Amino acid sequence: ARVPLPTNEPVYSYAPGTVEREKLKEAIKEIKSQQIEIPLIIGGEEIKTGNTREIVEPHNKSSVLGVYHVAGEKEIKMAIEAAMEASKKWREYDWVDRAAIFLKAAELLSGKYRYLINAATMLSLSKNIFQAEIDSACELTDFLRFNLYYMQKIYEEQPLYSPRGTWNIMQYRPLEGFVFAVPPFNFVSISGNLPTAPAMMGNVVLWKPASSSVYAPYIFMKVLQEAGLPDGVINFIPSKGSVVGDIVFSSEYFAGIHFTGSVDTFNKMWKMMAENLPKYKAYPRIVGETGGKDYIFVHKSANTKKLITAIIRGAYEYQGQKCSAVSRVYLPKSMWNDIKDELFSEIDKIKMGSPEDFTNFMNAVIDEEAYKKIVNYIEYARSASDAEIIKGGGYDDSKGWFVEPTIIYTENPHFKTMEEEIFGPVVTIYPYEDDKYVETLHLCDQTSPYGLTGAIFSEDRDATRVALDILEGSAGNFYINDKPTGAVVGQQPFGGARASGTNDKAGSHLNLLRWITPRAIKENF
Ligand code: GLU
Repeated sequence: ARVPLPTNEPVYSYAPGTVEREKLKEAIKEIKSQQIEIPLIIGGEEIKTGNTREIVEPHNKSSVLGVYHVAGEKEIKMAIEAAMEASKKWREYDWVDRAAIFLKAAELLSGKYRYLINAATMLSLSKNIFQAEIDSACELTDFLRFNLYYMQKIYEEQPLYSPRGTWNIMQYRPLEGFVFAVPPFNFVSISGNLPTAPAMMGNVVLWKPASSSVYAPYIFMKVLQEAGLPDGVINFIPSKGSVVGDIVFSSEYFAGIHFTGSVDTFNKMWKMMAENLPKYKAYPRIVGETGGKDYIFVHKSANTKKLITAIIRGAYEYQGQKCSAVSRVYLPKSMWNDIKDELFSEIDKIKMGSPEDFTNFMNAVIDEEAYKKIVNYIEYARSASDAEIIKGGGYDDSKGWFVEPTIIYTENPHFKTMEEEIFGPVVTIYPYEDDKYVETLHLCDQTSPYGLTGAIFSEDRDATRVALDILEGSAGNFYINDKPTGAVVGQQPFGGARASGTNDKAGSHLNLLRWITPRAIKENF
């Protein structure tokens, strides 16, 4: 194979006294002092529209890191033209040449730009160094390297049989048109994967980063350019969803969407595509990951030490702003009293504040809208008669958008916070009768429309097997004795079932197959 089987990018420790820690601190200083002005990048050109938005540190609202320019109608149309122009050459590129560009990008990202992109991630998204490192430096690099490896397998392996006298070939062509990449704010790796996966397969892309996450994705865009990505293959257009959506979905060149975000947005976009269908050359490829209402289900045989760590890390890392975050826990009643004190004392040890203080495990939530939504859920629980806030429940927006790690306790399995996605550091505990294991597994399976991630904690193989079977459809990523977050590219391909998305598994050949259109060719001799 020409593209070697990758290994995952190593996670640096940034321990005190290490060179990497010093380099990261320098990068933080650089970002804070430079007041960046981020342009659009269309057809390789930097464009400033004059319509700008500030980039603010979520944990320190008074600190502005710079501005980014917002694309309007005119620029979005330009981006479509630039993409279609670039497509002529890009779709004919040998896949080996495409691979070389993205392999170089992976090298630059994990080398020369590692500290800068981590620093931008920490400050603009309020992520601690570990969360930034596993996202921008490691997962994004892994997406590039593993996708290239899977891409090669697709191109090199012929799935067809040719009887004597014939030659059958499956040819994989890029889509006829452009792909629209619409990422969320919470992972720079996802933001970078959504445009690059289709581009790798020979497609051209319009990339609209999330409004609250433009800085780090912009650094990645510059990395792609430095790696030699031809102009116009990926066009970077921060813009308002409603403005860009109207133009993109009514374009005759629209060929597919690569999305991660909310169910509401995905459904709205799906409808717009349906309405515009007659305009398109082909049925568009629709690949999306939406939300989750992810759970930990505990059997009475569970190892409680592992369980407590999983709850804390699963629910509170990156302030619970992961689609995969633990937000409901089912646990035997008899166990609750045994673990409660230890769980609470672990939560008491959590430090929260700016990511510039490396000892803070938690930082701020992304913005005012997120903060208000989370606070509303907390207040709802506080005033409910069938639930209780038993830990945390505080919040403070005087300096930044801070929400305490919170636990809600309820004996109502359909309590609102057992069913709805909160996207914050709030987990709801539901204790079940010890002899109702199987019934409660069914309840868990049926409680939420989502099917993203879930976990079973059990040291009893029969109990684990029952859980695997009953919970089959409720999680595209399922974990046994581990937290249901932190999927690693090349190890646990990520994606949800049911209302959580089309389950095309980011960072796998299944995803890449969506970005090509095959032609079966038969030749007679
Ligand atoms: N892949 C991430 C994880 O496993 C979650 C991605 C998301 O939030 O969409 O934790």
